[in-house]
Amino acid sequence: MPLILSVLKLNPVLVVAYLVGVVAIATPITLALNYTDRQSLRELESQAAILASQALRRNEQITDQVYQAVQEMEAASLQDPCSPQAMERMIRASMRASRLQAVGYVENNRLLCSSLGFHGAGLDVGTAEYVSPGGLAVRSDRRLPYDDKSLFRISASVKSGYTAIVHTDNAFDIVDNDAEFGVGLIGLGNMRPISQVGIWKPEWARRLGQAHRLSFYDGDYVVALERSSRYAYFTYAAIPGQRLQGSWKSQAMWLVPLGVAAGLILGFSVYLVTRQQLGLPAQLRSALRRGELYLLYQPIIHLASGQWVGAEALLRWRRPDGEHVSPAVFIPMAERTQLIGRITAHVLDRVAHEAGALLRARPDFFISVNFASTDLHDPALFEQLEDVVRRHGIRPACVHIEATERTFIDAAGTREHIQRIRGLGHQVVIDDFGTGYSSLSYLTQLEVDGLKIDKSFVDTIGTDAVTSHVVSHIIAMARSLKLLMVAEGVETEAQAAYLRERGVQLAQGWLFARPMRIDALQAQLVVAKGSAQA
Ligand code: C2E
Ligand code: MG
Ligand code: MG
Repeated sequence: MPLILSVLKLNPVLVVAYLVGVVAIATPITLALNYTDRQSLRELESQAAILASQALRRNEQITDQVYQAVQEMEAASLQDPCSPQAMERMIRASMRASRLQAVGYVENNRLLCSSLGFHGAGLDVGTAEYVSPGGLAVRSDRRLPYDDKSLFRISASVKSGYTAIVHTDNAFDIVDNDAEFGVGLIGLGNMRPISQVGIWKPEWARRLGQAHRLSFYDGDYVVALERSSRYAYFTYAAIPGQRLQGSWKSQAMWLVPLGVAAGLILGFSVYLVTRQQLGLPAQLRSALRRGELYLLYQPIIHLASGQWVGAEALLRWRRPDGEHVSPAVFIPMAERTQLIGRITAHVLDRVAHEAGALLRARPDFFISVNFASTDLHDPALFEQLEDVVRRHGIRPACVHIEATERTFIDAAGTREHIQRIRGLGHQVVIDDFGTGYSSLSYLTQLEVDGLKIDKSFVDTIGTDAVTSHVVSHIIAMARSLKLLMVAEGVETEAQAAYLRERGVQLAQGWLFARPMRIDALQAQLVVAKGSAQA
């Protein structure tokens, strides 16, 4: 798994966040789909149950009328079942019965006469497939010469031969014939269809058991069965299950991609927030270990000559996914979480390794390293500074320390540390001068080598901002104390000219150069030196 992640260059936090997001969205969607699935199953089941119930009512009504007609004929106790008298009764019986097409007489599998007339030698109706416990011999789906398109159910009394004829459709015209529905009447005696339209599966009958009514989904069809309480049969209705999957699928078609997209967005937000809020110190720690921190060097220029005399080492953090985190974010956080000491130690080490050769070759050049508040009170760092410089054969004067001004609240304690660093041969300048506790008295007490005029003041040069006069006060103050002045964030020629005219020695800013890799700095210095010699 870690191998896959590293091959795909995936951040495990991001992967977990994505998974959380996808699960968070997919779960309710799946539940909702599952719910609608069960909901539509329930709907189809009740549709099927209604059909089975309607079919049962209709068939019971037909059976009632069949018995009524047969009994009526039998009650007349006629000698000849096909006499004109008998046939007149047949006509009356069939006219009264709304569901019967005809009433007749069957003997030896032949319909000899009916309310439709004499049938000569008789119409062959074949043997009955089913004999009901009530004594009706039932012949299903028979054709009669009067209408060759229709099928009829012919139910004859075993005892008397009197017969009722019913159009098969009459029994099941509750459902649309075109649909792939199944509906039918099943005899309890042999569990086979007495008559039916559409699909029928024998295994459905076995499910009924002793139940009065039942509905289920067999994977293909939603089926409902209902047993008659008066006759030895039950009806069924079957609705194809594609209708179920159809509704499920059509919803899933747009719900699932929508959910996954929402999950990804949610996951990414969770990832961003988690990274910002919770994981940053831990990630910075592992960034240190994994070498995600690197240095850029921003040249510092001698304003009078335009020559590059030094460079400030500025830390950068590039995550494995390519995203940069600003030092304005991670440096204050490192200060709060006591990580800054390790970071400064790392910077000292990198500077010595990367710029050692340059500083040995150019002893007049310097690199500025930023020290945070607590670094100035950290004896281990002083030892490292001394050690690193010595081991790499670097002149201490080639490494400047920029101390942030907000550190100097305890002026007396800080003074001692600054003097110790200066005692090693380094220059100490106050960074971001003018933004914190800057005052003339601090400057005199601390005995530093110089100050960096903060970009916010340089920005006001040539404008009518209320603070625009501050820069001239800072310059006057620094000059009176004979301090080195470095102007930060110089972006225009006008700012450079103003600073130059007032005796500010050094400047740093995009006007001259942006922060760059050590090899770019080295290459530029070689070119500059070459052109100076020429
Ligand atoms: P800083 O020490 O005052 O560094 C100067 C900042 O101004 C740098 O921002 C630099 O890139 C930026 N800058 C320089 N010239 C211009 C310009 O002409 N225009 C504009 N807009 N910006 C300019 P960066 O690198 O983002 O650093 C921000 C702060 O993070 C630094 O301010 C410093 O306080 C801290 N920092 C950076 N690297 C380190 C480090 O290695 N250690 C410590 N302790 N702090 C660091
Ligand atoms: Mg600085
Ligand atoms: Mg600064």
